Amino acid sequence: MEASSLQSKNISTTQTTTSNLTTSSTRSSLPSQQKIKNKTKLDITSTSSKSYSKVPLDRYSIIQNQVLLSLIFKTNCEACRNRWSGNMNINKREGLFLILSFQCSICQNIITIETSPKIVASDRRDINVRSKISGHLCGIRHAGLVKLMGALNLPSPIQDERYSKWNRNLLIVVKSFTGRSMKKAVEETVAAENGTELMVSGDGFWQTRGFQSRHGAAALLSCNPTPKVLDIETCSALSIKTSNPAKYENIIRTHRCEKNYEKSSGTMESAAILTMFKRSVSKYGVYYTKYVGDGDSKTFPVLSKIVHYPGKEIKKIEDLNHFSKRMKRGLETIKREHGRKKLSDGKTIGGKNRLSVHNILRLQMTLASNIRKFKHDLDLLFKGSWAIFWHKYSTNDDPRHDYCSIDWCGYLKSVHDKTPYDHTSHAIRRPVLHAIKPVFNNLCS
Ligand SMILES: [Zn+2]
Ligand SMILES: [Zn+2]
Ligand SMILES: [Zn+2]
Repeated sequence: MEASSLQSKNISTTQTTTSNLTTSSTRSSLPSQQKIKNKTKLDITSTSSKSYSKVPLDRYSIIQNQVLLSLIFKTNCEACRNRWSGNMNINKREGLFLILSFQCSICQNIITIETSPKIVASDRRDINVRSKISGHLCGIRHAGLVKLMGALNLPSPIQDERYSKWNRNLLIVVKSFTGRSMKKAVEETVAAENGTELMVSGDGFWQTRGFQSRHGAAALLSCNPTPKVLDIETCSALSIKTSNPAKYENIIRTHRCEKNYEKSSGTMESAAILTMFKRSVSKYGVYYTKYVGDGDSKTFPVLSKIVHYPGKEIKKIEDLNHFSKRMKRGLETIKREHGRKKLSDGKTIGGKNRLSVHNILRLQMTLASNIRKFKHDLDLLFKGSWAIFWHKYSTNDDPRHDYCSIDWCGYLKSVHDKTPYDHTSHAIRRPVLHAIKPVFNNLCS
């Protein structure tokens, strides 16, 4: 009896304010002692409910309706005090949030419960905000969330229209935080550079889950030992649709094709970076006069053509790390593609004196140091890179060190010092080099 009465009181405390049920009328019929007791109980449950429960009360339990109903059947009606018997109804549903009602068939008293509290200072329900955020975190978006809820036999999440409206609201909140931190980053960079002409690099973040996603973001980062985000811009194919329908059609067409995926997202990234360049003066009072981009970037031509800083020119700074990273990626791709396939010498591509992880790293590092040495002369850079290839190609019978430099080539050094030299230990086997030659061709031409 005690437990069942507490149970119903607990439920009463979570009633919606718009509910037409008032417990005070039923309580007034109770003896005053009972009233005080109930009042105390209510205060305790509302202020220190933890003392009643070892379960975290802000968590959710997934309860099958059948189980919930049978629980109510085990209680007594708070109005007529008879063992409860009656109907359960859904009075309202909003995404995962429900208002459930239980009507006593004997006295017609109705108890209603809300399955999730309101978020402070808003009309949104905790569970709906949580489901939206979890959709973001898992990268499954609304359609994925609908499937998940369907499979779990839960109500479907908040409707798409409202969902995207909430996304906009969420974005506003996020923006006000990031806005302040970016402004601070700009001020720090201006102080460090001792002026308002800044060097920046652009970076794109693309939603890659499925080709339906046409949303992404681009950021501008300061270029110093501790790069900071100076500005961000979200971009979507849809925003381009309104401003440039022809371009939109092109993006959507290329977007469907995996091969062109990078190309179309690159177009949108360029558009977002352009937007940020255009507002640099009005937003921060600074000029992005040096842009660090990689060799393939389509962004710089757009920037130099469209952004107009009076009396100033935007310079492109080549991101040289890009070359050695591309070498590493190229080698890894070839290794992956070959897999367990046998080369002409009957062995697979990996292993000692072959394309091992260690050798990939060494090739990348050697190229990177070449780049640092020859960054002002692309011709020398390419020659130096081929030198690496032929140096590794060399054998005792067929040394190929014509492009090598005595600074780093052990063979040339030993020739100079008239000491013996053995290629066997550090050469890479020729069938392997034939397989990876395309990487050098792509890189150094
Ligand atoms: Zn009891
Ligand atoms: Zn009743
Ligand atoms: Zn050499």
